[in-house]
Amino acid sequence: MKLALIGFGQAGGKVVDEFLAYDEAIGGGFINSAIAVNSATTDLKGLEYVPKENRVLIGQARVKGHGVGADNELGATVTEEDIDEIQGAIDRIPVHEIDAFLIVAGMGGGTGSGGAPVLAKHLKRIYNEPVYGLGILPATDEGGIYTLNAARSFQTFVREVDNLLVFDNDVWRSAGESVQDGYDRINREIVERFGLLFAAGEVDDDDDVAESVVDSSEIINTLEEGVSTIGYAREEVDTSGGLLSSFRGDEEFDEGQATNRMTSLVRKATLGRLTLPCDVSSADRGLVVATGPAEHLNRKGVERGRQWLEDETGSMEIRGGDYPLSDRDEVGAIVLLSGVTDVPRVDQLQEVAIEAQETTESVRANAQDEFASLMDTGGELDALF
Ligand code: GDP
Repeated sequence: MKLALIGFGQAGGKVVDEFLAYDEAIGGGFINSAIAVNSATTDLKGLEYVPKENRVLIGQARVKGHGVGADNELGATVTEEDIDEIQGAIDRIPVHEIDAFLIVAGMGGGTGSGGAPVLAKHLKRIYNEPVYGLGILPATDEGGIYTLNAARSFQTFVREVDNLLVFDNDVWRSAGESVQDGYDRINREIVERFGLLFAAGEVDDDDDVAESVVDSSEIINTLEEGVSTIGYAREEVDTSGGLLSSFRGDEEFDEGQATNRMTSLVRKATLGRLTLPCDVSSADRGLVVATGPAEHLNRKGVERGRQWLEDETGSMEIRGGDYPLSDRDEVGAIVLLSGVTDVPRVDQLQEVAIEAQETTESVRANAQDEFASLMDTGGELDALF
């Protein structure tokens, strides 16, 4: 499906940059336009792929291009004040050509955390196209303010978008990696999963397996509302061997093997590391996409995987289809779980955030009392004026 991507804040911009690189690399064609919005000049300058004319600096009157720090209330305010600047960039998008907007933001910071929900609300008021969010949760060791920001942004962002796709940095970190290396690797993981999903709905009609290919309306229907997570598993295949064995007339054996491989890839994708870990049985809707060379995409395997996911989730709304990628020597399964409700990480985020909010309030109240007592001279000392 064709997307208009909007990266909000530093993480949002970097991930959108990575999406553009990925779309080009796989020839996906799922990005119609890409915009980056930030209150920090240096973050916008650091981008490689987002066209210069699509980089929007907001909040200049207040923060002079230096960013809003981790103040997401200020992030929301400067977005509201400068919404016309962002709209100016969106006006250059041929919106009639896109299937949806996707706003990408790190939820623990200031600009993206505060601004992304404001932009979602604005876009929903103006356009009929669905507005999706891709929200990145901070790692647990980033500290109370990031957790508090993320929890408040999550509440608001979910309310304003049609669906919030979530990626949790916490479950994707590796020990012994620098923060920068970690983000570079994590960003590639993000765009591979979400990129393959959206590219899947963007296959040419003249493709040889067109009838089983995923359609953008299937993605849109799966993303009807709520919160979503993605699982992905892949396996190398011997592309030359596949053809050779068909010449030898071993199709039946190959067929059985391909069926089993695809079914177990669907299970691995679902039961392995999700972008947001959750209880799979709480999903309301799902979509299974098989990727890889067309001759390895086995319809029976996808169908069995789809049925297995129906059993796991108890949902009757599990869709399935293919995304043929001819120049790959691997097959993969993407599993989109939508409308998930049993998500321990969100409960934990909210608990820690409520504690952090209470602590902040009591520290502030104490500080006010202490300052008052510091300055209190019992009325015996006169101020200058
Ligand atoms: P903003 O510019 O004020 O919106 O804030 P940032 O985007 O810099 O940071 C917000 C949060 O995003 C941080 O707390 C991190 O959890 C996360 N983050 C920052 N940079 C990256 C990145 O490149 N990749 C990922 N996955 N997360 C990031």
